[in-house]
Amino acid sequence: MTFGDLELISLFDGFFRLDGGAMFGVVPKTLWEKRTPADDRNRITLGMRPLLVRTGATTVLIDAGIGDKMDAKNTAIYAIDRSRSLDHSLADAGLAADQIDVVLASHLHFDHAGGFTSRDAAGSIRPRFARARYVARTAEWEDATHPHERNRASYLQENFVPLMTAGVLELVPDDAVIAPGVRTVRTGGHTMHHQIVMIESGGRTAVFTADLIPTTAHVDEPWIMAYDLYPMDTLAFKRTFVRDAIDREYLIFFEHDPAIAAGFIREKNGRKYVEPVSR
Ligand SMILES: [Zn+2]
Repeated sequence: MTFGDLELISLFDGFFRLDGGAMFGVVPKTLWEKRTPADDRNRITLGMRPLLVRTGATTVLIDAGIGDKMDAKNTAIYAIDRSRSLDHSLADAGLAADQIDVVLASHLHFDHAGGFTSRDAAGSIRPRFARARYVARTAEWEDATHPHERNRASYLQENFVPLMTAGVLELVPDDAVIAPGVRTVRTGGHTMHHQIVMIESGGRTAVFTADLIPTTAHVDEPWIMAYDLYPMDTLAFKRTFVRDAIDREYLIFFEHDPAIAAGFIREKNGRKYVEPVSR
């Protein structure tokens, strides 16, 4: 997709499943299952859709999916289906892994950072994108490397510590411009230092909302994941953000939607909905 001076390519790293209750927080199942049916273990299917932004000079990959390091037990728990993975979608886009210049993390949970590293033939874990500089927020890195009981299952050290060891991880303390037209904005909420990516060119704005609005079913303000560590911060940010997204016609990229990669949030008679954009 051409977007002003930029090119945006929605990528795909497969499907996985998470508990539907955990994905919708205080929303009763009788409501959420109408939007998203659950399987016999109460899990709903989610996609993983990293976004590629090409500025001409720089190719930026935002998040990298779950990757291929999960063991058999966790692959079953999360029903990971990577029959179509990031490798396939990069190839479809005509890109090799060593053409990625920057890998930007929304946050360091395994379904976003899993693809940052991979195991080589000798079994050591290395940065997966050989030429890339990896960028994460300083305080997200601190939280990820000092996990507690509530977030430990989400922060798998093998996904980011090898980047630091290899000297390719750049920690950024604040909101920052990553490339021309590409900037980060901290949302907090999901994790204290979770960030989204604003992409601006030719007077238009696209937003990679990561886990702020993971799927099109999460557009309504109170539909907030129970995974969020600070749900009231999510709510506060979302209120303003969704209003702006409607008024300013942001093109939203939904990282975890199983079917819809991108769309516009619209409002009609007080009801919010997503108008999908096919490509
Ligand atoms: Zn996620």
